[in-house]
Amino acid sequence: MHAAVLEGPGGPEALSYREVPTPPVGPREVLLRVRAAGVNRLDVWIRNGTYPVPFPHVLGADVAGEVEQVGTEASGRFAPGDRVLVYPGLSCGACAACRQGQESFCESLGLLGRERWGGYAERIVVPEPLLFPLPETMTFQGAAALPVAYTTAEHMLSRAGVRSGERVLLFGATGGVGTALLLRAQRRRARVFAVTGSPTAAGELLAMGAEGVYLRPELTPLAGSSPLPGTVDAVLDSLGKEALAPGLARLRKGGRYAYCGVTSGNVVTLDLRPIYARQISILGCFLGNREDLRVLLEDSLNGGWEPRVHRTFPLSEAAAAHRALEGAHLGKLLLLP
Ligand SMILES: [Zn+2]
Repeated sequence: MHAAVLEGPGGPEALSYREVPTPPVGPREVLLRVRAAGVNRLDVWIRNGTYPVPFPHVLGADVAGEVEQVGTEASGRFAPGDRVLVYPGLSCGACAACRQGQESFCESLGLLGRERWGGYAERIVVPEPLLFPLPETMTFQGAAALPVAYTTAEHMLSRAGVRSGERVLLFGATGGVGTALLLRAQRRRARVFAVTGSPTAAGELLAMGAEGVYLRPELTPLAGSSPLPGTVDAVLDSLGKEALAPGLARLRKGGRYAYCGVTSGNVVTLDLRPIYARQISILGCFLGNREDLRVLLEDSLNGGWEPRVHRTFPLSEAAAAHRALEGAHLGKLLLLP
């Protein structure tokens, strides 16, 4: 099979499109033909060596595809030809967190495309319990946007307890998780105030339902936006360092600050006094649980929302997709084998 193989740590050019052996299918595993694979910031961290992996390696935590072969001891739930989506968390299945459906809290949690080869390939072998049947209402491309970005977004909204009518300040609004948060917060009838570093994105963010769009770092209102509310109920962030001070400054007493990434930096100086005096909750979020993905798929049956896909690339152009991820984009980037 062909794959976009990461030959070693480096820039996008470290990804080379070439033949690799199709992996063997274990007794409780399933061989999938990959139809669409998502590109995530995590892939960049692995590619540049921040998360070391053995090389050569195949990235890709987001996989939608068709079953081609099932292992000899598979459950019988899936058959060749079935359309499926893969939950990317490799959890132990036995600890207290796993037994309670909180896989993202499993101490031995690994990730598809990090601890084992992922979806930047024509074929992938995955443990059968990771599979979800794909509803006919969901395309392969829409589905491949969900596992990391949308599951993370759903998990963040749950962790932060975002409810109907609440005001949410969203940093990093144009990225994969950012657009997922914008769309999914609205499903909870929250009011979203989006912060971006790219002024040209304002029109599209407003069209996607943001109540206002504000330019970092001063949070200046962009065209068509009313001034920011004095305080908000929750901050949702994937930037890290750049969002912390302006985000905390806007939170009401008892507000929640949830973040799932540190793309602008991870080491900060923090005054702890207002955190306790104003009873602020700071919530770290990583991936989501199987239940979050189930909810997203079920919700797609009800209509009314679509994952936001910015652009697709042929699998052979994975390096170009990585360059695009590190530039301006609005929504998910996908690879199509
Ligand atoms: Zn576990």
